[in-house]
Amino acid sequence: MSTKSRWGLAFAAVLAAALLAVAFIPSVEFIVGGALVNLGFRLQDRLGHYDFEHDESISPAEIWEELQEQNDLAADVRDIFPRTVRHPVVAILACMDARIDTAELAGDTRRYYYVVRTAGSILSPAEQEMLELAVLNGVKVIVLTSHSDCAAEAAAADPEAREKFPALTGLMDERVKRVEEFLARPIIRNAIDRGELEVKFARIDTDSDRLVLGDIPTTFP
Ligand SMILES: [Zn+2]
Repeated sequence: MSTKSRWGLAFAAVLAAALLAVAFIPSVEFIVGGALVNLGFRLQDRLGHYDFEHDESISPAEIWEELQEQNDLAADVRDIFPRTVRHPVVAILACMDARIDTAELAGDTRRYYYVVRTAGSILSPAEQEMLELAVLNGVKVIVLTSHSDCAAEAAAADPEAREKFPALTGLMDERVKRVEEFLARPIIRNAIDRGELEVKFARIDTDSDRLVLGDIPTTFP
């Protein structure tokens, strides 16, 4: 056999092994899926026309126009790949920080997760009711999160920022109290007691997206 044929055979064997791994090993399938999603985002990111990040001179009107164009294209993609299933069993409360992408935390969160985003993951009575509604709609796990390098946490610790954002920083001070209040709500309490709901607490490492589980916080960092 020639060297060229041997290389061809080796390549075919590696390709076959990779395809088998993708087909039969769920974790490999998950990683390949995630890589393809990221590849798709990278392809969109590199289009200068749709790049908000590096163009400081772009006006609000131009941004809005871009956003609408992008929405048209995104809706075209959705037409090609229609959603078929929607069954949320998880609700995540996460900070509005743009670095946190819930799909990066847990894979595809589009159809199986309710996601409530608030600055600093504050849990005012309105968000408590949103999560309660999610439980009534079938959610079995609620993940209350906070995250490293949080601007809302920094604001709460900064006297000058506290003067500028009194409502937000005031709610940040009440985070522990609000969690306790939430856990005591009858719908939540009863669902936990019946074994139909678990409420978890986790700190998100903003750089790695890893969830670091913790106990019910007596204080937030
Ligand atoms: Zn934050």
